[in-house]
Amino acid sequence: MKTLRRVERDEAALPRRAPRPSELEEVDCPACEEGARDPFVSARDDLHGTPGEFSFVRCRACALVYQSPRIRADLIERYYDETYLAHSNTRGPITWGPLKPLVERAFGRHDQRKLALVRRAVSLEAGQRVLDIGSGAGSFLSRLVREEGVSGTAVDFKDLSHLPDYPGLDFRHGSAGEASLEDESYRLATLWHVLEHDYEPRRTLAAVRAALEPEGRCLIEVPRLDSLSYRLYGQRWPGLQAPQHTILFSKETLLRFVEASGFEVLEYLPYGAFPAYFYLFAGAAFQVRVGQGLDFGRAALPYFLGRALAAPLLLGERRLNLAMQTVICRPRS
Ligand SMILES: [Zn+2]
Repeated sequence: MKTLRRVERDEAALPRRAPRPSELEEVDCPACEEGARDPFVSARDDLHGTPGEFSFVRCRACALVYQSPRIRADLIERYYDETYLAHSNTRGPITWGPLKPLVERAFGRHDQRKLALVRRAVSLEAGQRVLDIGSGAGSFLSRLVREEGVSGTAVDFKDLSHLPDYPGLDFRHGSAGEASLEDESYRLATLWHVLEHDYEPRRTLAAVRAALEPEGRCLIEVPRLDSLSYRLYGQRWPGLQAPQHTILFSKETLLRFVEASGFEVLEYLPYGAFPAYFYLFAGAAFQVRVGQGLDFGRAALPYFLGRALAAPLLLGERRLNLAMQTVICRPRS
């Protein structure tokens, strides 16, 4: 008797060979369109272990660090399979075993830290609209909708709307530029670790700017290149996350990029909702496992033990410039 194989979305596995030259594209600077650049750092996929060497370069005109050549836009989705953490959350195929409650708590704390940053940026009223670009598993936005009574629009280039946090959200599949966002109708837009993945970051910020109310707020979090963890780990810095990361922002290049996209920066924070400890831990693990990928199931126990040991250091996370950065901004009138 034939066994029927259950077909699930996102079933495709990560590529098992290095990309062929025909699968790569050379690009100019995503900020200023200048072509002249210098080599910056070469990276491997230390997180998932897909084969290949990926090059980051620095623009000679504006100093932005970006990936070139990079995986062609029409092929990049295969690098985000179901084990991709931000997409699978704790419900994915990773076996957490007895540590599942700890993992769930860590994901919950991450969303809680996002909510705290939201409340710092804006006071929301029931019925107002919130836009989350790169909504991933959807847990942050669904929680914000529950807690604040707002109406949530989620945009992601991958259709994850079958996940359990999506009922109640207005999901739009595609990039921000493709999502047909209504003009001047959102009180808040959030981009948690999105811009560093973006193939068209200027188009994204233009779409977000047009969608925000004139007094609306935008929250952008990305890894910070000029941080302690990059100085510590260099080529094995988790923020390189090749090939998914297309841009590596320093404080200076992020602020310039946001301002050039028509925003006024209200506040800059040298930390984010994403735990800097993840970068400290993963960077140390990558030194050992260079390019082989991290086995999340097996890494979970050392991760939480290390976190307990690092607790005193993490108390200073907001001042030490460990790994992350966040910008709170509004459309410039
Ligand atoms: Zn440039």
